[in-house]
Amino acid sequence: MIIGEQKPLKEICDILEGHHRILVAGCRSCVAICLAGGEKEVGILSESLRLHSDLAGKGWEIDEVTVERQCENEWVREIAPKIEGKDAVLSIACGVGAQTIQAMYPKVRSLPGLNTSNMGAPIEPGIFMERCGGCGDCVLHLTGGICPIVRCAKSLLNGPCGGSQNGKCEIGKETPCAWEEIYQSLKELGRLDLLEANIPPKDWTPSRSGGPRKIVRPEAVMSETERQLRGER
Ligand code: SF4
Ligand code: SF4
Repeated sequence: MIIGEQKPLKEICDILEGHHRILVAGCRSCVAICLAGGEKEVGILSESLRLHSDLAGKGWEIDEVTVERQCENEWVREIAPKIEGKDAVLSIACGVGAQTIQAMYPKVRSLPGLNTSNMGAPIEPGIFMERCGGCGDCVLHLTGGICPIVRCAKSLLNGPCGGSQNGKCEIGKETPCAWEEIYQSLKELGRLDLLEANIPPKDWTPSRSGGPRKIVRPEAVMSETERQLRGER
């Protein structure tokens, strides 16, 4: 899931400066699970903005909506009546959701109310940890199902650095050394032999260095006729 955190209220108010009819738009997917941009957070943020508007005499008209998945056109199309007449949408979905709104409604400003942080998972109630950096060339099969790219502070591929102490990373006593975790996982799996193989230098070309990445599934690509039938072009 994508993990994010709401921007501080003061920053959001600064971003909204100069806009009047504002739609606060959340998402029921990842950002709802990480308690940053779901329906509840939309309600709380909207009320806070109304209060701020009253106290500071901003004259904001705050409306609110939460879509199933703000990253998909199908769901974002449904909120067209809500966006009608607004001069800004404050998106508290991830950056993908905010950009989907901007692409579908180019005359309305899509403003970010959330800082998208990483791809991760809840490890216990209220605590979310980064688990994948989207490197485009997964090596989990070599590392006991533990990502060395994001869980090791140095993204090391062949064992720990000299800073690993008592199973902890040198960046802090709270942080497990990823290579200790990899070792324990491989031991549990009976695959310590994998540690003897040298993982070659990683191919970073599928990562971000080549600009925005794109995946095409030919079987799902719509023909021009299908697009026209759906009214998309
Ligand atoms: S190796 Fe790459 S794709 Fe696999 S979990 Fe780590 S960052 Fe994600
Ligand atoms: S201590 Fe472990 S997790 Fe930390 S940087 Fe070194 S190898 Fe990576």
